[in-house]
Amino acid sequence: MTDVAEDSRTIARDAPQYNASLVRREDATESLASFWVRFDGDPTPFEPGQYMTIGVFAEGKLMQRPYSVASSPRVAGSDGYEFYVRLVNGGQFTPLLWRLPEGHPMRMIGPKGKFLLEPEDDRTHIFISSGTGNAPFISMMRELLAVDRPRRAVFLNGVSYQRDLGYRDLVEGWQQNGEYPVTYIPTVSRPRDPSNVGWSGRTGRVEAILAPVLDELALTPDNSIAYICGNPDMILSAEETLLARGYPEPQVKKELYWPKGKEPRGDAPGAAISDE
Ligand SMILES: Cc1cc2nc3c(=O)[nH]c(=O)nc-3n(C[C@H](O)[C@H](O)[C@H](O)COP(=O)(O)OP(=O)(O)OC[C@H]3O[C@@H](n4cnc5c(N)ncnc54)[C@H](O)[C@@H]3O)c2cc1C
Repeated sequence: MTDVAEDSRTIARDAPQYNASLVRREDATESLASFWVRFDGDPTPFEPGQYMTIGVFAEGKLMQRPYSVASSPRVAGSDGYEFYVRLVNGGQFTPLLWRLPEGHPMRMIGPKGKFLLEPEDDRTHIFISSGTGNAPFISMMRELLAVDRPRRAVFLNGVSYQRDLGYRDLVEGWQQNGEYPVTYIPTVSRPRDPSNVGWSGRTGRVEAILAPVLDELALTPDNSIAYICGNPDMILSAEETLLARGYPEPQVKKELYWPKGKEPRGDAPGAAISDE
C-alpha cells in the first residue's frame, strides 16, 4: 500500500469482529517492533512455533496477516501474544500496524501452523533464521526453559545490520549465564555499512555461514535436527545445504514467511487475506 507516513487509510476503532487489543508495543528500530496482542476473553492455547493472525479494519476491509508467536503460551492470558514484526514499506498490513496506538482493538484468530518441536528430541536443535524469522525459536526456547527442559541449540540469525538482531541480549544472556545451552551465531550481511562499524562477528548471509558452522560444530544428521524460518530464498538455500549433507527431509523443518519470488503487493485488489 504505502509508507507509514503517507498511509491515510482510515482504521476502524470499533468493529463487531474485534476480539482482542494491542496492549503493548516496543519499537526497536524504525522498522522493527514487538507487539503484544491480548484476547478480550480467555486466551487460546497454542504450541511454540505456531502463529496467530492479527488484523484491523481499514477502509471497511479486514486487513490481517499471520505472525509467529514469540512468547511462551503460559503468558498469553497476562501479557498477551508477543509478535516481532518488520515494517514492510509498500506492504498492505504492516503500515497499518505501525500506526496503531497501544490499547487499540484488533481481531486475532489462531493458532495455526505445524512448525513445531518434535516431542522429546534430545538432538542438537539448529535454529536457522533471517530477520524476524527468529520469533518462533524464542517462543520454543522460552517454553522449554519454563518447563526446565531446555534442549541444546545452535541459533543462527542473519540480518543486514547489527541493530536488527532482535532478542540478541536475551539469547546472548542465556548463553553467557548458562541458563540455556545455546550457541548464538548472529551474522550481518552488509559488514561495510557504516552502521555495522565495530561488528566483530560473522559476516555474510545466514545460508552462506551454515556449512562452515556445521563443520566447526561437527553437526551431522545423526546428532542434530534443523528448523528454518523466515525469507523463502534463505530457507530453500539452507535446506539444500542440509539435504546435500544427508539430512532426511523430515529432519529439516521449514516456515516460509512469504511465497518464494513475492514482493510487497502494493494496493492490488483482493490483497486482504480471508478470515478463515
Ligand atoms: C506463518 C507465517 C508467520 C509469519 N510470521 C512473521 C513474523 O513473526 N514477523 C514478521 O515480521 N513477519 C511474519 N510473517 C510475514 C507477515 O505475515 C506479512 O507477510 C508481513 O508482515 C508483510 O505484510 P504486509 O501486508 O505489510 O505486506 P504485503 O503487502 O503482504 O507484502 C508481502 C511481501 O512483503 C515482504 N515481506 C513479508 N514479510 C516480511 C518480513 N518479515 N521481512 C521482510 N519482508 C517481508 C515479502 O516480499 C512479501 O512478499 C509471517 C508469515 C507467515 C506466512
